[in-house]
Amino acid sequence: MNLSVPDYILSIKPYSPGKPMEELEREYGIEDSVKIASNENPLGPSPMAVKAITDAVGNLHRYPDGGGYYLVKKIAEKFGILQGNVVLGSGSDDVLGMLTRAFLGPGDEAIMAYPSFLMYDILVRTVGAIPIHVPLKSFSNNLIAMKDRISSKTRMIFITNPNNPTGTIVSGADFKEFLENIPADIIVVIDEAYVEFVKNEECLNFFEFFDNRKPLVALRTFSKAYGLAGLRVGYGILPEKIAEFANRVRQPFNVNSLAQVGALAAIDDLEFLNKTVELVHSELDYMFNALSKRGIRWFPTDANFFLIDVGKDANIVFERMLRHGIIVRSMTSYSYPTYIRVNVGLHEENVRFIQALEKVLNES
Ligand SMILES: *Cc1c(COP(=O)(O)O)cnc(C)c1O
Repeated sequence: MNLSVPDYILSIKPYSPGKPMEELEREYGIEDSVKIASNENPLGPSPMAVKAITDAVGNLHRYPDGGGYYLVKKIAEKFGILQGNVVLGSGSDDVLGMLTRAFLGPGDEAIMAYPSFLMYDILVRTVGAIPIHVPLKSFSNNLIAMKDRISSKTRMIFITNPNNPTGTIVSGADFKEFLENIPADIIVVIDEAYVEFVKNEECLNFFEFFDNRKPLVALRTFSKAYGLAGLRVGYGILPEKIAEFANRVRQPFNVNSLAQVGALAAIDDLEFLNKTVELVHSELDYMFNALSKRGIRWFPTDANFFLIDVGKDANIVFERMLRHGIIVRSMTSYSYPTYIRVNVGLHEENVRFIQALEKVLNES
């Protein structure tokens, strides 16, 4: 083969998916492993979503509703916005991809924090645009430095609130200041994948800023608090004009029919959502306490995951934790070579995690 691949595609660092849990268990001869590496919901999927999906499987021979009519209507009603302010995606990643395809071209610049969610970089490069990485400050999005990097080529700015992998929030006050004098042709995208977990009252509230005439977008997902990561459904909340362009580059059947009914049911499953949020907060308390008692350094969070400084090569700790049946995320590829990221699991899982980590860190 003599493939001709554009330079900007060659510049993409492939996202490494990691092996499936079953495969890891087989390789390491472990059972019953605890996966706290991907910020998933340890309670499983919303039971109401499961029921709705089960009831809908008989219609799989039909194409999905390409407009996602009922789900869009439900989301619009929930937030008191127009149906034209909602764009559905196969995960919020898909909505991110629509925004980059519709609004970025070769040579355009998109500003993002580093380290942050890896997909921004990949999707920006995919369309030949240039990612501009701005280091975090005290683990948080450095809005002042991000604003300083605006040039005549800047077309988009990504803000992750709370940030992944650090769990930090952007305050409403800082965001307000940031928005002042931002050129009107720049789209500001706030990725709110973990917003349901936030208790911090200073946290930026998107709806205080949302305006159908301003280029400000929020992304939300059913993958985390609603427990539907495998279903692939998320959405953008955006001005109608931006939504129109996003829809031009959207695959017509991007959200499958089970995802549509599952998400629709999950929105109403407040009992499950509340139970999830309560579990996350009480277990964070447990984990922080247990780590402090053992002298292990952890970092506060406003999300369902947090960072731990293990004080040695995180890849080695990852590997040793695996032998104890615990799957965590090494932060080496996020430029934190001695940090791991873990999310909250069920209480028994968190207990097992703490015990295993203590053992692993005591091995020389
Ligand atoms: C998990 C996550 C998402 C959600 O992605 P989906 O495609 O909706 O599953 C988006 N942004 C961040 C920062 C995340 O961590």
